[in-house]
Amino acid sequence: MLETRLYIDGIFVGPERGGFFPAVNPATEEPFAQVAAGQACDIHRAVRAARRAFDSGEWSGLPAQERAAKLRRIADGIRHRLRDIAFIEVRDNGKPLLEAEWDVADAAFCFEYYADLAEQHAGRSTEVVDVGDNRFQAKICREPLGVVGAITPWNFPILMAAWKVAPALAAGCTIVLKPSELCSVSCGALAKIIHEAGLPPGVFNLVTGTGPEAGEALANHPLIDKVAFTGSVATGRKVMQAASAGIRTVSLELGGKSPFIIFDDCELAKAVEWILFGIFWNKGEVCSATSRVLVHRGIFNQLLECLRTATEAIEIGSGETPGVKLGPLVSKDQYEKVRAAVEAAKRSGARLVTGGEPPKGLNRGYFLSPTIFAEVPTGSSIWREEIFGPVVCINPFDTEEEALELANDSNYGLAAAVMSDDLDRCERVAAKLRAGVVWINCSQPTFTQLPWGGYKMSGIGRELGRAGFDAYFEIKQVTRFDHYEHWDWYSQAAKMATEA
Ligand code: NAD
Repeated sequence: MLETRLYIDGIFVGPERGGFFPAVNPATEEPFAQVAAGQACDIHRAVRAARRAFDSGEWSGLPAQERAAKLRRIADGIRHRLRDIAFIEVRDNGKPLLEAEWDVADAAFCFEYYADLAEQHAGRSTEVVDVGDNRFQAKICREPLGVVGAITPWNFPILMAAWKVAPALAAGCTIVLKPSELCSVSCGALAKIIHEAGLPPGVFNLVTGTGPEAGEALANHPLIDKVAFTGSVATGRKVMQAASAGIRTVSLELGGKSPFIIFDDCELAKAVEWILFGIFWNKGEVCSATSRVLVHRGIFNQLLECLRTATEAIEIGSGETPGVKLGPLVSKDQYEKVRAAVEAAKRSGARLVTGGEPPKGLNRGYFLSPTIFAEVPTGSSIWREEIFGPVVCINPFDTEEEALELANDSNYGLAAAVMSDDLDRCERVAAKLRAGVVWINCSQPTFTQLPWGGYKMSGIGRELGRAGFDAYFEIKQVTRFDHYEHWDWYSQAAKMATEA
């Protein structure tokens, strides 16, 4: 059985007190690995190591090219083990193998991309500024922010870790990563690759463990300069409270309830495919899943019928089985949460079009058939709350204004999508959607080069792209008085005092 240990100060170690807990395969309900249950004392050791490594300057002081070379070695290491890590993701999370391979390849590219940025923008940079007073010389310096505590979720385990670890390391920061207790095993593989890449001890540290034990200790640790968090709104709120106590920088990538507006001039087959991808990819356990679909009334019934037929044809099973497009939900808890949400939706008056039950013939594993609700009350929890499962709501609209109003009527603002053959209309709607990510004529494709993050309760800050790199710097001004004369404010007093 695989064993994921802690990685602290360049050494793989067991937890000081906590023992190990099982990683369970959601397709079989059986354990396939053991994960170290890190505690507050392990977090403390890891943070101290990261602090020492940062303060010594041995990583942040390296020329950008040398840091970039190490990051490229990490990318190569991930690619070299791509299939092994993808199988880990399938067993830990339940996602289909092809999707897992995609995630792992993206994680490798993320390290390469930030290696390039570190070189091009030379991380630490200095800009001379004319302040309009020639007695002063002023400059703005960008410096690595310091020690980062990264807390990540279970839906894209290695990828969500890469989104934080790669830019933080590229910037010259040091980091302690605490992945979700539900899916930590691929982060253990990442730690081995980082170790082999030869980073100085303490620059990257991994502490697995539960949220209340390891996560809370990391979010509250006084030696951390920034907490980079991805997860639910409820936990994000706690992380922000912890950061406020120490006035620490925090970035939050939280949940969503993203809308997808479909106009009546689009090709039906394309609309059906992008709706399916928007909600059933990764079993709907996607923060940006387009779980609220708004369809022009003119094509509503026809589209719904096509969608039902296509949904019922999706192959469900273990992610290791070729051809499977929908795996089990990540855990028993998540399965029960989603089933309870489906039951609440039925009680709310929403019309169940298909799904809502475990698929026939699969007697083990946390499987749920892909589920469609139509004519959903817009005040119901299934319309307003993130479900994080393969459940989509579909409602009709009559006008562009009404579609926009319904789309923007949400506490969340992570993503949104619009589909129409009229590109002017798409651009007009995109400009009015209150979301950090807007897709036109598609839903979900995500690129490392583009900033990622949400409006409203979907979070604070951006990951990925240039913005995701800048998020790991502090900005310092250095102002020099460069004049032979005195400042002439207390000069009389100063002269008298020094002449006396
Ligand atoms: P979660 O909030 O339950 O857990 C996230 C992480 O926080 C885990 O590592 C967990 O151990 C840790 N944690 C739990 N309690 C903690 C505490 N008190 N202090 C510090 N850390 C604690 O979220 P999840 O169920 O793992 O992930 C699903 C959520 O993540 C969804 O809401 C989803 O939308 C969101 N998500 C957002 C994005 C994005 O980019 N916006 C991406 C992926 C997932």
